[in-house]
Amino acid sequence: MVAAVLVSTYHCIACDVVQRVTVAKEKHDLIIKNSSNGLVSYSDIHYCYDGILGINNLQIDKNMAVRSFSLIEFPSMKKMRQPKTGIPVPMAPKPVKNIYHVDGIDSSKSMKLVIKDQGLNTELYIGDFSSEDEPIVQLKSKLGSVSLEFYQCDIKSTFAMKQWFQVLIDTVEKIPPTKLGLLIEALRFVRENGKTRPGMFEIDQLYALLTTHKIKIKSISIHTVSNLRGKYGDVFADKVWLIFKFLAKNKKREVILQELMEVVDKDLRFITFAAFILENEGMISLIRPEMDD
Ligand SMILES: [Zn+2]
Repeated sequence: MVAAVLVSTYHCIACDVVQRVTVAKEKHDLIIKNSSNGLVSYSDIHYCYDGILGINNLQIDKNMAVRSFSLIEFPSMKKMRQPKTGIPVPMAPKPVKNIYHVDGIDSSKSMKLVIKDQGLNTELYIGDFSSEDEPIVQLKSKLGSVSLEFYQCDIKSTFAMKQWFQVLIDTVEKIPPTKLGLLIEALRFVRENGKTRPGMFEIDQLYALLTTHKIKIKSISIHTVSNLRGKYGDVFADKVWLIFKFLAKNKKREVILQELMEVVDKDLRFITFAAFILENEGMISLIRPEMDD
């Protein structure tokens, strides 16, 4: 039996596009019944104004009307770490924490976790939480500023998955502030690859996913893509051709990896994969943002 689905629309002010939201009727009715204000919160995830996933938290009533929504975005600045020695300064009042809720990273499989980032002063809750929930895995980044709690959900907590999460938070700690949409892409990537332990190539790709908005891409010289056809197939070669066409058209300015999403493929995992292959083949060079050590 196919579960009944309710559909609504709202106008996202960030990308100026009417977005469609679908929710399972059974779940919607149940939550409405238990809701104190008659509204249910949902996260709508779509490709937004910059080509990157944008996330709106919506308040929907029992007739599926979207009553309000807010675009959620991470702060663009990390706080400087406090020096360990020196003269203590009077403490400024603690800033209010930024708390974000995303009800799921997609509809097919649930993922339930909390990521806390001290540098950004943020807490990100992904999944449906209840008061009885206890984390089954708790991890801390190398320098201790990012933590991750993983809860019982559709995704198994295996040794490989824990390694992936560790790599994720260690990376988040070192990079300049990432975008929420990119973190969601990175989580999808982790989920897809979580069955096997992360290798160097995947770790590098995860880092690229999180910093797509900062990686500069340079074409080294004019290339033909014919030699890629035999090695990687026609679909890949055709898309690479689009990359070189775009680079040639914009050779007077710096192109960043993120821009390729709009002209080549919306799937960021493909973009980063293709960019790495081309880098390995010596056809482009990538200038990555500096890591914070
Ligand atoms: Zn939008």
